[in-house]
Amino acid sequence: MELGIAGRTAIVCAASKGFGRGCAMALAREGVNLVIAARGGEALEATAAEIRAATGVQVTTVQADVTTEEGRAALLAACPNPDILVTNAGGPPPGDFASFTLDDWRRAVEANMLTPIALIQATVRGMVERGFGRIVNITSASVRAPIASLELSNGARAGLTGAVSALARKVASHNVTINNLLPGPFDTDRIKNNWTKAAATSGRSLEEVGRESIKHIPAKRLGRPEEFGAACAFLCSGHAGFITAQNILLDGGAYPGTM
Ligand code: NAP
Repeated sequence: MELGIAGRTAIVCAASKGFGRGCAMALAREGVNLVIAARGGEALEATAAEIRAATGVQVTTVQADVTTEEGRAALLAACPNPDILVTNAGGPPPGDFASFTLDDWRRAVEANMLTPIALIQATVRGMVERGFGRIVNITSASVRAPIASLELSNGARAGLTGAVSALARKVASHNVTINNLLPGPFDTDRIKNNWTKAAATSGRSLEEVGRESIKHIPAKRLGRPEEFGAACAFLCSGHAGFITAQNILLDGGAYPGTM
């Protein structure tokens, strides 16, 4: 299917690896020019080179921490008027409610709630004026069903979800959509790190933690970043203008509810 977005420009945050990279590659395959950001320059440049070689689109890199004002300013200076915005950042660390400090909460809210809000605020008006915009926030399945060890993530991402819900309705008549993609367990560095920490604290092997996690997923496997990217590209497509204010789970059937 032709997605109808060739020649558009997208900002994809946190895009040197994992979901961000999957989204960037999928958009590039549709002819979307990219501005991608990550903190580490080496992986960022390697990903940009790979995307250029695979697709021929323009890829601008911005080495920046998107959770800081300076980082976001650098990103927006490189691309003040994106047609597509994919928000993403590293997730907060696992832990226990009793041991989190207020500063832990502040960092989680800054990274996973305020950062996407700031980027949306800076770009949504231009999308409305131009009559086209697609915003996709990468959140987590933890918005739908809390994950016991990821309370910082549960809270901050649910806050973002609530914050953009009314805005999505306000801008819908201008062909601007805002949706959230809620990943369950995917095969990225992030999940491997979480498993490594879980193995260290429980005394189990990494393989055991992995097997135990996958056991509860009806698909019996982790998701693949390319699958995530394809879903994101469709939400950013010309065909998806009637899909907005949605929270879409990609979890291999793990959420146990009927709806
Ligand atoms: P990943 O494979 O570790 O990739 C993270 C990417 O984000 C890297 O490119 C990293 O590059 C970049 N990044 C991290 N913090 C950044 C920052 N402050 N500014 C700019 N770039 C930043 O992680 P992932 O699995 O794709 O996860 C992405 C998000 O989805 C996270 O918030 C994670 O918690 C969430 N999530 C993941 C899963 C899963 O199963 N993987 C499930 C649910 C939710 P640098 O380190 O060089 O900056």
